Amino acid sequence: MDIFANDDQVAVILAHELSHVVLQHSSEILSLASLLDLLILPPMIALHAFVPNFLLALLMQWVANVVVSLTIKFPQRRKTESESDIVGLYLAARACFDVREACAFYQMLNQTVGLRDLE
Ligand SMILES: [Zn+2]
Repeated sequence: MDIFANDDQVAVILAHELSHVVLQHSSEILSLASLLDLLILPPMIALHAFVPNFLLALLMQWVANVVVSLTIKFPQRRKTESESDIVGLYLAARACFDVREACAFYQMLNQTVGLRDLE
């Protein structure tokens, strides 16, 4: 709580986190992960049917997970963060907090710890 300059900054962050819940981002990400697992399964089964090698199956699973994470999961996660940034500002504004404090807070945070450490 020491990093916040005022209640408005606390409200902006809480509203951001609350918007994740309101927008059901956890369910969205878990659903996407399940779908991707189902899509990866048939090629993995086919590969194992033709080349029944346990180490090759492990390697291909790892490669598939990396490719899916880089091309689908990470961009999706970034999209949910951006969505929560916007919706969070609306929620904080509706609760009569000064959302202009978000800029000051994020700039301070970026200068002190870097935004990458927060995700
Ligand atoms: Zn977030």
